[in-house]
Amino acid sequence: MVEYEIKDALLKKGCPVCSVLKKRTDEVLWWFEKENYHEIETLSKLQNNPFICERHKKDLLEIGNTLSVTFEFLIEKDMEFLASLSKLKSKKLSQKIRHSRFDTCMFCILEKDIERFIVEKFVAMLSENETKKLYAKSDGLCRKHLFESLLKAEKVNDISEFLIQDTILRLSKIDKLLKEFFHKSDYRFSDEKKGEEQNAWIDALNFYSTNKK
Ligand SMILES: [Zn+2]
Ligand SMILES: [Zn+2]
Repeated sequence: MVEYEIKDALLKKGCPVCSVLKKRTDEVLWWFEKENYHEIETLSKLQNNPFICERHKKDLLEIGNTLSVTFEFLIEKDMEFLASLSKLKSKKLSQKIRHSRFDTCMFCILEKDIERFIVEKFVAMLSENETKKLYAKSDGLCRKHLFESLLKAEKVNDISEFLIQDTILRLSKIDKLLKEFFHKSDYRFSDEKKGEEQNAWIDALNFYSTNKK
């Protein structure tokens, strides 16, 4: 149940959506490696979205030569596809190529679907006060997932208001620490003991990026 995974992630470090997403996409890759690499359903999804992005190429390189089966299928289908393009007039040729979605990565599409599902569940869970309390004590959402949650929550005003106020509070803490950092960087105050303000920029970086700590 994704709800349990979200609750669990709220008790751990980092953005809860990022961490459940990481877990779920690792599972997708695990299943791909163990079983789905030769399953016809997965193969036709790959055939329809045959671009492999840089990030997922790295994952596939780890799987190794069992993927020969996968690529034999794709290569054969592509030979058929290219043969069907042969001798077409340029308008027809470009139509057929555009229709073929040659620049979409199947793994990215799966990831996006999982991400949407987690955000939806997370927003629904925020209608409970218990989750709100848990969230307030957690590391909070990264910026990308905050805005995705706000989009999902647009019809539920108290949830968007909760997320907005909570984020302002978090950002004002980082802002205060950044100001303290500049204060202590001043040579006149350089003898003051250095503390958490030294790492405030990392909190900011985590907010603006995928929040993995
Ligand atoms: Zn996130
Ligand atoms: Zn990808």
